[in-house]
Amino acid sequence: MSNDNKSNLPNVNYAHTANNGTVAAPSNFLRTIIEADMTGGVYANRQDSHGQPLPLVVTRFPPEPNGYLHIGHAKAICVNFGLARDYAGRCHLRFDDTNPEKEEQEYVDTIIDSVKWLGFNWNDTTGEHLYFASDYFDQLYLMAEYLITAGLAYVDSQSADDMATNRGNFGEVGKDSPFRTRSPEESLALFRRMKAGEFKDGTHIVRAKIDMASPNMNLRDPAIYRIRHAHHHRTGDAWCIYPMYDYTHPISDALENITHSICTLEFQDHRPFYDWILEKLSDGGFLQKPVPHQYEFSRLNVTYVVTSKRKLRQLVDEQIVDGWDDPRMPTLVGIRRRGYTPESLQLFCDRTGVTKSDGWIDMSSLEGALREDLDPKAPRATAVLRPLKLIIDNFPEDLSVACHAPVFPPAHPEHATAMRHFPITRNVWIEREDFMETPVKGYFRLTPPTEDKAGSRVRLRHGYVVECTGFDKDADGNVSAVHCNYFEDSKSGTEGSANYKVKGNIHWISVAHALEAEVRLYDRLFSDPHPDAGGKDFKLALNPHSKEVVTAYLEPGMSAALPDERYQFERHGYFVADRIDSIAGKPVFNRTVTLKDSWGK
Ligand code: ATP
Ligand code: MG
Repeated sequence: MSNDNKSNLPNVNYAHTANNGTVAAPSNFLRTIIEADMTGGVYANRQDSHGQPLPLVVTRFPPEPNGYLHIGHAKAICVNFGLARDYAGRCHLRFDDTNPEKEEQEYVDTIIDSVKWLGFNWNDTTGEHLYFASDYFDQLYLMAEYLITAGLAYVDSQSADDMATNRGNFGEVGKDSPFRTRSPEESLALFRRMKAGEFKDGTHIVRAKIDMASPNMNLRDPAIYRIRHAHHHRTGDAWCIYPMYDYTHPISDALENITHSICTLEFQDHRPFYDWILEKLSDGGFLQKPVPHQYEFSRLNVTYVVTSKRKLRQLVDEQIVDGWDDPRMPTLVGIRRRGYTPESLQLFCDRTGVTKSDGWIDMSSLEGALREDLDPKAPRATAVLRPLKLIIDNFPEDLSVACHAPVFPPAHPEHATAMRHFPITRNVWIEREDFMETPVKGYFRLTPPTEDKAGSRVRLRHGYVVECTGFDKDADGNVSAVHCNYFEDSKSGTEGSANYKVKGNIHWISVAHALEAEVRLYDRLFSDPHPDAGGKDFKLALNPHSKEVVTAYLEPGMSAALPDERYQFERHGYFVADRIDSIAGKPVFNRTVTLKDSWGK
């Protein structure tokens, strides 16, 4: 791992170490290509504009700042930043901000935040490698002028309809625009007038002059500049023409000395144009050789999730969820708020691998990665989520006895030393499900005495063994309290405790000491593994039980829980103190995931 990676990844088993040059991570086709390029010296001996040597591997993560990042982006982030880290290279964060209407500073900020949260950064000894395509607008413009002058591009003035018709389709070659033969001088003059703001949106467009008969639609004279009288979040009103994504992307890559430009498979058909642009502009002396190369891998698709921006926006706008960072959203802000760790996401992304074949990854592998990450390190705590009062009738009313339990699980180095403390008193809260008036077979928790049998005995975890003596019901016939007696010599950690063999072991919290807290029990947002497959209405697949809010009782020490702190609530799962709604002394908890997968069964 490179020194500048500040994230602490104790549970992600990265076999590879970049600094001594050995890379032993599970290989994939991208690693094979990179290693071959390194061995072949393809990107050796390059220098940046300040004469600094350039790394052999320079990747980039290029989001468009038009929305929140989601789990699929995490994959692209881990692939790009991960490869750079593993091969002692660097990865740039570049905003592809060429669509003024859709982009906003708010999105730039949240994207920066999410990438950092995932544990990556874009700094190295030469500085910060954070870029904006909009910073290249001047250069992009000059290169377009060059292409026009060289007869490699022209201004097309067809109507949008004619342009679409003349483009043809898969079975039918396109037709040359009547403006294709315009002289470079005429096109250049028009382009300059476009830039000067003389024309309305959509009246002229600059197109690369390639081949209207190409079987690849992307080579049928693709657009490179269009008119948009729109305010840009960074360049303001300086421009009324904006470069197209397919034109901007290869040039941005080349200007930043990217070596391996990694994207998802849907860009495969765009690669010939990517190469065309770089060839023409490097031949023209505008870009350094060797130029970057584009490689495609398959998108990450996770079951029980939708990632389309439009659909996510619909969930937010229609208040089906409580905002972009709702813990049920697959956005990185949502996943973070839900309680996922960056380490678990990296582990998940590494495990899903890099391939060229599309497939679905089951949500349970994401949940499994979190359990694996948190199990050895999350502090334990007690929480009663659905409380029922247990009255220990033979426990003196004003007595309070200290009980102790380790904060950390056995695997943790502080297991034996860090202790949490909570008293036991006459009245304690237990889980409603830990009492059964008429027990089913194999039920070993609290059950009342019957005519021929005493009540059951259970251990109040870290406390005493108790025997159930009866229960109360309210006017509606619901159990309102359970009664028991305790055995004074049975306390956990004392000699006498060994004399009591009980099958049930339940958790509890002293009523007088309990911390009342709001706990949000989140579950998957959809109950269909493929909510929007085949054009299905994803809203019909919503899981009606994806959020339940309960008033729970927590052990008293939990009042000190800080926002974003994660715990294992024993028997229940992993929970995080909500980063937005928790206040000092009064945390609100989100359930991140239960202890076991209850979906795959
Ligand atoms: P979406 O269409 O899902 O909203 P996008 O492609 O519009 O995503 P960009 O900001 O353009 O969002 O994406 C930035 C990078 O993230 C691109 O390189 C894109 O290929 C990659 N990416 C987006 N979704 C996924 C995914 N599901 N798996 C892997 N990479 C992804
Ligand atoms: Mg995109």
